[in-house]
Amino acid sequence: MTGWIPIVAFLTFFGTAFAQRDFSAVKIKTTRLTDRIYMLEGSGGNIGVSVGADGVLIVDDQFAPLAEKIRAAIGELGGGDPTFVLNTHYHGDHTGGNAHFGEKGVIVAHRNVRDRLAARRVDDRPLPETALPEITFDEGLSIHFNGEELRVVHFPNAHTDGDGVVFFTGSNVVHTGDLFFNGRFPYVDLRGGGNVQGYIEAVRSLLKQISPDARIIPGHGPLAVPDDMMTALEMLETCANLVKESIAAGKTLEEIQAAGVPEKWQSWGQGWMSTDRWLAIVYNSYK
Ligand SMILES: [Zn+2]
Repeated sequence: MTGWIPIVAFLTFFGTAFAQRDFSAVKIKTTRLTDRIYMLEGSGGNIGVSVGADGVLIVDDQFAPLAEKIRAAIGELGGGDPTFVLNTHYHGDHTGGNAHFGEKGVIVAHRNVRDRLAARRVDDRPLPETALPEITFDEGLSIHFNGEELRVVHFPNAHTDGDGVVFFTGSNVVHTGDLFFNGRFPYVDLRGGGNVQGYIEAVRSLLKQISPDARIIPGHGPLAVPDDMMTALEMLETCANLVKESIAAGKTLEEIQAAGVPEKWQSWGQGWMSTDRWLAIVYNSYK
């Protein structure tokens, strides 16, 4: 039961609730990282944009009702319809715009992202074919676009079973997808093949591959630097150790939640992703 409740809440939150949510007040905020790389924030996962001579490539596309606003924000950067759309994973707050952008662009993602999107039903109907990735990879792939190599690397069983991180190798920028929630507890999709231990191993591995002066577009939260991700790793390791020790001592999830997290991390429980929910995810990853 302990694992079941958050999962149902998650599906409700990311499914029905978002399908019916009013996005009319959402504004897209654009942050310039280099002369060709931008970060867009609206509602849902952060978007990375490359605009240049080859056209437009975006990493993730938030929710379907925001597609026109995202397209307008890209237009203000001098770009048109994206040629490529990279999905960092299958969650609806990162792939909701696929049906729109997939009409004219090619969607690229890990094989498991395509499988999970193909299995999704909205009001008992499958997603349109245009919403599914046309190019899939297992370990990773590179796209040579706007004068640099974009290296997409798969990290197994972390946030989901289909996580891809995008390295903009010439720009020293990394889009981590949901392997990084900057300043807040991460959701980890246990039903979607994710696991807190895998998540920690992915973050450790990622930090070794990112140069100290890189800039990081996290899945959620503000633009970051590797030090911010180190802080997130410290939180992950602290909470994992705490929960593992408590399980070894025979404590129940309820007791672990009652004890909470060290003061340093208490502000990381935000909105739906509360400290209790986070501790339940950690508990269910190790029990
Ligand atoms: Zn996600």
